[in-house]
Amino acid sequence: MKIFNTLNGRMEEFVSLKEGEVGLYTCGPTVYDYAHIGNFRAYVFEDFVRRTFEYLGYRVVQVMNLTDVDDKTIRRSQQEGVTLREYTDRYIQAFFEDIALLGIEPAEHYPRATDHIPEMVAIIEDLLAKGIAYRKGDGIYFDLAKFPKYGALAKLDKAQLKSGARVDVDEYDKENVQDFALWKEAKEGEPFWETSLGKGRPGWHIECSAMSMKYLGPTFDLHMGGVDNIFPHHENEIAQSEAHTGKPFVRYWLHVHHLIVDGTKMSKSLGNFHTLRGLIEKGFRPEVIRFLLLSTHYRKTLNFSFDALAQMEKSWQRIVNFQTELEGTLFGEKETPGLEDWLQESRSKFRAALEDDLNISQALNTLFEFIKEGNLRLSRGEIGASAANLISETLKGFDSVFNLLPRGGQGELTEEQKGLVEERNRFRREKNFPEADRVRKLLLDQGILIEDTRNGVRWKRA
Ligand SMILES: [Zn+2]
Repeated sequence: MKIFNTLNGRMEEFVSLKEGEVGLYTCGPTVYDYAHIGNFRAYVFEDFVRRTFEYLGYRVVQVMNLTDVDDKTIRRSQQEGVTLREYTDRYIQAFFEDIALLGIEPAEHYPRATDHIPEMVAIIEDLLAKGIAYRKGDGIYFDLAKFPKYGALAKLDKAQLKSGARVDVDEYDKENVQDFALWKEAKEGEPFWETSLGKGRPGWHIECSAMSMKYLGPTFDLHMGGVDNIFPHHENEIAQSEAHTGKPFVRYWLHVHHLIVDGTKMSKSLGNFHTLRGLIEKGFRPEVIRFLLLSTHYRKTLNFSFDALAQMEKSWQRIVNFQTELEGTLFGEKETPGLEDWLQESRSKFRAALEDDLNISQALNTLFEFIKEGNLRLSRGEIGASAANLISETLKGFDSVFNLLPRGGQGELTEEQKGLVEERNRFRREKNFPEADRVRKLLLDQGILIEDTRNGVRWKRA
């Protein structure tokens, strides 16, 4: 599989450290508010990558951190007058509800920053001992001058580095390429931990170094996040981790581009700020929202609009209708010409699309061509029971990557209902239409609507 590795700025063949297994770290939410759809674009894409690896036969070990201590969580909890834990618990729960609605497969580990303070302290102690970190003012800082590789991921110009200057906020921009805070001494009214470094709390960046390496080891395969995390967050993760272990930290970095709304930046002041909850309240299905978030290649900006959402709804309905027809028709036995070749070709096109830097457009093209051809074959009455099964299995295989089909489907008929369908078929063959209609009515009373198609009887729940 080829992916675009931000680290080297080029397309590379993905080779995992352990055969058949991918160690994956994805920067998780800062739990100070509901996540917005821009955040979810990244999480849905990461889920698509995870599912792609699984489709290709890998086992994925994914870690997603929960940032439950930083400048923002502290400020908000103080404003509300509740403890940091109480405050962040609420948004952690909301986050898990949201990702379940979006059909995101759970990660193997969701470590909370505040449960990993000793691991962070151990790294900082080591960096102090090595002379790479220093104590100044009210914190402990990482000395950029001691890590010559600094800036490699974000392709920073060395002239941008302001040696000796310090930045102590968690988030900052390229105007401030300075020594950054690893540890902040306790301030009046702020939560703190009693540690060998003294009373204080970690900076944001050290959280991800400590938690990724704890669960995935000093070097792991893949690290993902939004493009806005490249600098300073991911740059700082590399510096802290590699200065600590002396080993390469991450082999491949994948970054998801921004989401904009109606062509402009999403912001609360412009009134175009959307949360998942807000969209669901407006009547949109989470599957359709997921579809829209997935539909643009990760290295392109995604433009969110209600028109686009309505378009996606139509496309989504085509997938669902096809599956409903396959599962709901009681097909007879029939030879389907060229079935194996067609399925084989569709599967290999699909795989090739995924392996080409997660080419979502090509993968979706393959899916919709497959549906078009399938509908054509259905309309020609070419599909028998075993063919329908194989087509449905292939469709579900594709959907294991997209996860757009409603979970559970429409279920199956009971043995008694199947018997009634058989009985009705017999009456129809005997041209005893009044009796056939009577049995049809019996099924309808049980909520089963019967229609006759060229392929056999199709049923759905009325
Ligand atoms: Zn992170």
